[in-house]
Formats: sequence, C-alpha cells, structure tokens
Amino acid sequence: MSPRENGPGGRDGVRRADVCVVGAGPAGLTLALLMVRSGARVTVLERSPSLDRAYRGEILQPGGQRLLDSLGVLAGARRRGCHEHDGFRLEERGKVLIDGDYRRLPGPYNCLLSLPQRHLLAELLEHCRAYAGFEYIEGAKVTGLLEEGGAVRGVTCRAAGDRPPLEVRALCVVGADGRFSTVRRLAGIDHDRLDLFDQDVLWFRLAQPALGNVRIFRAGGSPLLAYTSFPDSVQLGWTLPHGGYPALASQGFAHVKDQLRRAAPHYADAIDAQVRGFGDLSLLDVFAGSVRRWARDGLLLIGDSAHTHSPIGAQGINLAVQDAVAAHPVLCEGIRRGTVSEALLAPVTSQRARDVTAMTRIQVMQSRMMLSRGRVSSVVRPRAAALMSRTPAYRALLRRIAFGNEAIEVRSDLFGEGAAAAA
Ligand SMILES: Cc1cc2nc3c(=O)[nH]c(=O)nc-3n(C[C@H](O)[C@H](O)[C@H](O)COP(=O)(O)OP(=O)(O)OC[C@H]3O[C@@H](n4cnc5c(N)ncnc54)[C@H](O)[C@@H]3O)c2cc1C
Repeated sequence: MSPRENGPGGRDGVRRADVCVVGAGPAGLTLALLMVRSGARVTVLERSPSLDRAYRGEILQPGGQRLLDSLGVLAGARRRGCHEHDGFRLEERGKVLIDGDYRRLPGPYNCLLSLPQRHLLAELLEHCRAYAGFEYIEGAKVTGLLEEGGAVRGVTCRAAGDRPPLEVRALCVVGADGRFSTVRRLAGIDHDRLDLFDQDVLWFRLAQPALGNVRIFRAGGSPLLAYTSFPDSVQLGWTLPHGGYPALASQGFAHVKDQLRRAAPHYADAIDAQVRGFGDLSLLDVFAGSVRRWARDGLLLIGDSAHTHSPIGAQGINLAVQDAVAAHPVLCEGIRRGTVSEALLAPVTSQRARDVTAMTRIQVMQSRMMLSRGRVSSVVRPRAAALMSRTPAYRALLRRIAFGNEAIEVRSDLFGEGAAAAA
C-alpha cells in the first residue's frame, strides 16, 4: 500500500491532490499513471468496489496498444491473458466481403487484441501503486463538485458502507466517469446524444473454440458481431433495430432465443444449451454522444464522459487512452503554473474534438456498410464495401481506424519527479 492509500476519510475527511481523477476506467487510470510518473499527486475515485467489468470494451486497436506499450503496461496486461485476432471480416452467408487484414499494417502492433478490461485496468493500477503520489479510493461515488469563483476545486463523494463522506481538493478534477458521467452533469456541461446508429446490440457469451478474426456476419436475420474473449468463450453481439428490444422481449424469452438461433444457425446448438434466460443477455443501447465543451477552469472531461461511441470499429478504449496521453503534457504544465484553466486546455481539447468527430464519421460509415438492414441496403452496400476495400483509399482508412491520430505520443521526457511539481 502506498503512503497516501490509507482509506477514505483521512483524518479530517479532506484529501488534497494535484489531480483528482473520477473513474478508474481505461481513460482515468491511463491518465493517473502518466501523471504520477511525472511527479504529480493523483487521487483516483472509483465508485465500484472491483475492476471486474462484464460486457465492456475488450477489443484494443493497434493505436491503443502502441501507447500502452510506451507507458510500459501492455506486456503485463497481455500476460494476464488475451487473444490476438488477425483483423476483422465482414461475411455474408459464408462469403468474405471485406477482409480487414491487420497483419498487413506496420508491426509490431498489427493485430486486434481481445484483452479483458479487468486485465488492462489491473495492470494500470498495479503500476500506479508503485508511486508514492498515487491514492486509490474504491467504493467512492462522486456526488458533488467543489467550486470557487467559477472554477472547480475538487469533489465530494459518498463512500461505500458506513464510511464517512469524503472531500478531495485538487488543482484539476478530471471526469473520466464514463458515458453517463456524473461529473459532466454536475459541471453543467451539455452532452448531445446523437442517435446516428440504426442498431442496438444484444450481447451474450458461448463456450466455443477460438476465432482467428473479429467477425461481422450475416447468416439469415440481422448481422452479428463475434470475437473470441479470453479465456475460452466467444462473445456475440446480435444487432437489432435501435430501440426495438422492449417490444421484442415482451414476446417472451423463447421468441428472443429463436431469433438468435435463426440469426446464427452455426451456433444454434450452443445457444440452445447455454443461453438460458434474459439474465444471459446484455443489451447495449448504441448511441454516439459528445460534449460541446470538454473543460472548465479546473475541470477536464476525457474518454466516454466527453464522447460516446458505437462498439462497431472498437474505438472507445483507443480514444480514451489517446485523450489521456494528449492531456498529460498540458496538465503537467498547469500544475507547474499552479492553475489549470480552460484556456490552457483549449488546444488539446479542440484537437481531440476534431479527432473524435472524424472517428465518429468513420464509425457511422462502417455501421451503414456492415450492419444496414432492408433489401437494397443489405445487398448493395456490403458489395460496394467489398469493392471499395480493394482500393488504396481503403488501406489508408484501415490505418486510420487502427491507429487513430498517430501524432499522439507518450511524452516520456516528462516522466520523473520534477515535470509536474507544483510551483
Ligand atoms: C458492451 C460494450 C462493448 C464495447 N466494446 C468495445 C470494444 O470492443 N473496443 C473498444 O475500444 N471499446 C468498446 N466499448 C467502449 C469502451 O468500453 C469504452 O469506450 C471505454 O471503457 C471508455 O473508457 P472510460 O475510461 O472513458 O470510461 P469507462 O470505462 O466507462 O469507466 C468509467 C469509470 O467511472 C466509474 N464511475 C462512474 N460514475 C462514477 C462516479 N459518480 N464516481 C466515481 N466513479 C464513477 C465507473 O464505475 C467506471 O469504472 C464497448 C462498450 C460496451 C458497453
């Protein structure tokens, strides 16, 4: 246990940090590690008592792998267990229409990595814990912001069980608390929900032999996503019309199961044996969302709290990690100056907003090409996509999907005690 990690409350119930990160997801813990490695005092508040995350992002793109490797956590996270995919494939009735072959991308990160989120988070947390400036408080749900003269100065939170409430005062609060961010709401920042996607996804798992690729396949009914999830299951996502689940579910579990069997005849026996009730299914309401403002004086939003994505194209973790890496130098600068203002953060947040908008456009295009329904769209679009996938423009697009903004690099020159030393 690090010197600062002595349970919530402290002597006076007040903690002090340079940066208070709300949420121990990929965005929050990546940022925490970057900042403690630069000498900052970081307190991370996480409402959940564990790192176990069922039905959360697992597929890590090469860009995220590259950054996490620069940060020194990829190898350890991989050792905890993962599965490498050669790329993704769009298949229709057994025929491969698009072969998104990642092995043709520049190495060494030329694969899609199925990495359970708990493995990534456990590795990040273990590295953070090696630094005396790090404090991790789990079971602490942020419920309020502390503000002075229009600037955010900290948070209040409720601790689990009968532990007393806690206050964390910090130069900067980072809201990394996910798609339904409390920090965003408390800061009065609007989040535009964009229903750009025609499908929601119903996830379930089957014990099945490993797949070599992430598959998007259409066998009969609506398309399914499928990938091997470590250690020994295949995670399937059945796409259904956006908002259509309550009506479907009202027809009973047997009816839903029948739809799944028809959509994935290859897995029909396994579905029969292993999908036993509604409890084995997890619905993802798919929407895109973004904030109009990523920062206020003393406050920054990163990851899903600033922008939410469809699972198609597996971009959420990539973008969350890139946000953290992009924010690191400017937060170090703010700590040195003794103030983290919205103006200081603006160059980073506007660049990230542009990157995120560009990626959302790509995801909408991918979704229409791969998952569209209706006779015309389901016949014409995948074939058009198959033709396009043989062009140089597509190879450039694949690289963009895989790596995102390649100019974002971990600033390891800022690691060391002094880089984020308070003035
Ligand atoms: C079913 C599903 C499949 C997905 N598949 C993929 C994929 O294959 N690849 C991919 O890249 N992305 C995928 N995503 C998206 C990906 O999971 C997210 O984009 C990513 O986890 C975002 O990271 P984050 O750190 O911003 O937020 P999150 O991972 O959501 O972490 C937020 C954290 O904040 C905590 N928190 C929330 N509120 C509070 C509070 N008030 N106080 C304290 N803590 C709080 C939460 O407990 C959580 O730990 C998927 C998402 C879902 C739901």
